[in-house]
Amino acid sequence: MRQKIVAGNWKMNKTLDEALALASEVSNMVKDEVNTDVQVILAPSFISLTAVGKLIEGQKRLALAAQNCHHKTSGAYTGEVSVDMLKSIGVSFVIIGHSERRMYFNETNEQLAEKTNLLLQNNIRPIFCCGESLEQREKGIHIDFVKQQLTESLFHLDTNQLQKVVIAYEPIWAIGTGKTASTEQAQEMHEVIRKHIASKYGEAAAAEVSILYGGSCNPTNAPELFACKDVDGGLIGGASLKSRDFVSIVKSFS
Ligand code: 13P
Repeated sequence: MRQKIVAGNWKMNKTLDEALALASEVSNMVKDEVNTDVQVILAPSFISLTAVGKLIEGQKRLALAAQNCHHKTSGAYTGEVSVDMLKSIGVSFVIIGHSERRMYFNETNEQLAEKTNLLLQNNIRPIFCCGESLEQREKGIHIDFVKQQLTESLFHLDTNQLQKVVIAYEPIWAIGTGKTASTEQAQEMHEVIRKHIASKYGEAAAAEVSILYGGSCNPTNAPELFACKDVDGGLIGGASLKSRDFVSIVKSFS
């Protein structure tokens, strides 16, 4: 079933104590104020994952996500974190292919296919990020670029596996810039993504996939973005670091 999802990507922010304070505030507000059927996901740094996981345990609307995982099962990869390790602390989602990781850590579509496989084998759902740069959009190649990201990292999956993947469309030019995609731009690309999935897996399967928007999403623009036909929620950066803003976004579904 296609789910409404709002995920907070805390990126490289918050010490352990700060992360616990934020998680606790969000957890209390979600418990008291949110009665729609929305899956809320918190993605703190690796350092805070275990503690935040314990804090939100048993809160049915809240789930724990990591911001990355390694694409190999285990071994001599100093400083890296495996899918097995994440599974052992109760992580249910992992954000993969964020543009910051593609850009600064040279992650490739091929590695993301490996990460996707490992995660699904371990019953963890990938939140697969895709999205174009401003230059690509200006050249008019943004649609083909996003389709290629999906094809190369996900289209080897079977239908059942594909439906477990959450897609996050994050135009790079909208991330952390205060420049949100217009509702038309967001809806257009979300529809492209759903149709591309439908071209391989059929319309019924594509209709079950959750596609999130990310990029300068805030309490003011979230309601109109989330009202778009093919937008099933958001992947939130900056605004997820303030509990009130984040929970307002969670409450933005009409
Ligand atoms: P901002 O909401 O800060 O633009 O970040 C979006 C993002 O990259 C979430 O993964």
